[in-house]
Amino acid sequence: MATIVFEGITKTFADAKKGGIFTAVDEATFEIKDKEFLVFVGPSGCGKTTSLRMIAGLEKQTGGNIYIDGQLVNHVHPKDRDIAMVFQDYALYPHMSIEQNLSFGLKNMKIEKSIIEEKVAYASKILGLDQLLDRKPRELSGGQRQRVALGRAIVRDPKVFLFDEPLSNLDAKLRVQMRIELAELHQRLGATIVYVTHDQVEAMTLGERIVVMNEGKVQQIASPQELYARPQNMFVAGFIGSPAMNFIPAYVLSENQLQMGDYLLDVPLDRQDYVRAYVNRQVMFGIRPEHILLDPKGSVEVKVNVFEHLGAENLLYFSFNEQSVISKTAGENFIKAGETIAMTFQMEKMHLFDIETKQRIG
Ligand code: ATP
Repeated sequence: MATIVFEGITKTFADAKKGGIFTAVDEATFEIKDKEFLVFVGPSGCGKTTSLRMIAGLEKQTGGNIYIDGQLVNHVHPKDRDIAMVFQDYALYPHMSIEQNLSFGLKNMKIEKSIIEEKVAYASKILGLDQLLDRKPRELSGGQRQRVALGRAIVRDPKVFLFDEPLSNLDAKLRVQMRIELAELHQRLGATIVYVTHDQVEAMTLGERIVVMNEGKVQQIASPQELYARPQNMFVAGFIGSPAMNFIPAYVLSENQLQMGDYLLDVPLDRQDYVRAYVNRQVMFGIRPEHILLDPKGSVEVKVNVFEHLGAENLLYFSFNEQSVISKTAGENFIKAGETIAMTFQMEKMHLFDIETKQRIG
């Protein structure tokens, strides 16, 4: 078992520039389940790495409690937490062979030689490193080096693996390959994995659940499907999905109609109960680019400002209610900039947010 609980965790640092203190993580409360692949995602500086380092014990929280397997670990030394951390720079020993790199930690722990050999053989086999054991790190590719860094964590057989942007030094193709390997590895090892990334595609493909953070605060914890379909606030809505969700100010005419400039759009039946409280008020309407469809019978006529062909799909940029809006359409529909086209907003896929609180409505 390896559950991790954050209970009101806060981390502040002395702010050298402004004086006073800077809050890197603000009252974070959540539970990571046994054997879960949990991903922290958010923009640079949002507190992801600090959260991970507090799990490892490399950083001490300013307030709150951390439990691993139900045991309070606030004062437990990092090496006694049974956790392995894989960093983005791999931190391999350049003068040692791959085999020595893999076995080094175990030797230090005075583990019996035959057991070390067994663990190194197991890790190198599942990572495809068994033919490379005599080489030095400089004789490996970036992806192979990354696997060695993983291998060093695996041989320790820890309760929890912590990953801090482990793929960020790899090129795009290798990153996709390693992403698949990591997902497979998780299934094979059956371990709890906590993974930090700023890349939402990595988060969405790897995470069973995702913690979205911004400015030290947990914004939402949910499955990838839930984050996409029901983002709890405008930050999550804009962060998850590419291109990002379109936001258009709207006026609620009635529970079944929104007005955006000259356009009137119908509120789906199952959302009307939530919209009722906002009649005669402004709200923020959100719609993902893939939910604005080219449709000769569509009620929304717009002039295309820019057309980008990306192969499998196209991006159309147009103005709508004085906002710049993007639509993502199938690759075979070629349109010229300047053309006027008809589109349909899939209203059953709409998102509405409170203008002031930025929280989801319904
Ligand atoms: P990135 O994706 O850029 O690594 P992150 O989300 O992992 O970002 P953290 O490294 O957790 O962010 O940092 C959160 C905030 O805390 C940042 O503003 C950072 O500058 C600040 N911070 C982190 N460590 C320290 C420290 N030792 N002293 C002062 N401030 C720190």
